[in-house]
Amino acid sequence: MLNPGYTTISKFLIQQVPEGPHGRELAALLVDVAAVIKAISAAVGKGPLVGLAGLAGTENTQGEQQKKLDVLADDLFARGVEWSELVGALASEEREDVHFVEGNGRLALVYDPLDGSANLDVNLPVGTIFSVLALPETGRGTSVVLQPGTCQLAAGYAIYGPSTQVVLTVGRGTHGFTLDREIGNFVLTHPDIRVPDEGSDYLINASNRRFWEPPVARYVDECKAGKEGPRGRDFNTRWVASMVADVHRILLRGGIYMYPRDQKPENREGRLRLLYEANPMSMIVEQAGGAASTGRGRILEVVPQRIHQRVPVILGSRAEVARVERYHAEFDKGDDKPYSSPLFGERSLFRSG
Ligand code: MN
Ligand code: MN
Repeated sequence: MLNPGYTTISKFLIQQVPEGPHGRELAALLVDVAAVIKAISAAVGKGPLVGLAGLAGTENTQGEQQKKLDVLADDLFARGVEWSELVGALASEEREDVHFVEGNGRLALVYDPLDGSANLDVNLPVGTIFSVLALPETGRGTSVVLQPGTCQLAAGYAIYGPSTQVVLTVGRGTHGFTLDREIGNFVLTHPDIRVPDEGSDYLINASNRRFWEPPVARYVDECKAGKEGPRGRDFNTRWVASMVADVHRILLRGGIYMYPRDQKPENREGRLRLLYEANPMSMIVEQAGGAASTGRGRILEVVPQRIHQRVPVILGSRAEVARVERYHAEFDKGDDKPYSSPLFGERSLFRSG
């Protein structure tokens, strides 16, 4: 039963959203987004029971096959926020261009309706990521959403795991809510999340190692070398392959999450999308005291050129992100000294001295 002392997401937003030109609209929009997330959570939870497993038979604008739930979640999002006329423009992973909404909405909503949807086939966590921007007063082109992440009014994600949780920020810290399914409401369970300063997890798709840039390989090799290596301590690796699930772990446990750019043709710019994956997650992580970088600069300061632009993502505990940035700087200057394993070096582990 809901304890009357609990803070629901609506109560929290009414209290937290800063005064200002968009304050009340922003709070109201985020309450609508939370309702959309409840609907997506219900659909994802039923999945194969109601014919929602598998492919939709269509492709998104980037030529990727859409799942039935990708399409449904996108539709739930649009219908769940258009009615109020708070939003004047929508941009989604599943739509080629900006969709303008009738009315005088002064906000723009950019989202990845279902993140990690390949995980649906194996019943592992998936999520939703969203970002809220102020809609410029003039202009009706794609450019209305091409704003650097520093302009975000709010950002958040949902994770559909053992419980459904929403983590969000309106620029006043990062806070987490858990869906109480009996009551049908999100309850504040993780106030003021702080990314631990030190973490022992590094999260990266290691199958891409041969394509990585040297500074990324150097960082990972040093982690793998553990106690005997230059870091002098042991690390763990984890990889769920859903950005939401992997970043959620980093937020709560510390460490580092990396989807760097690499030499694979499709990853040359990075893999993740700037507007609806990297920017919202970066704001959330920074508001929790962590850092988010391309390896060569702050993600939130990247000026977007295209809606579906990709970007390298390196985020997590500040000291770890700073280390990876330093390795990039040293590599770019030409004076890095990659770690070489003692197993293959002159001072072999198997020799004395
Ligand atoms: Mn995604
Ligand atoms: Mn998606």
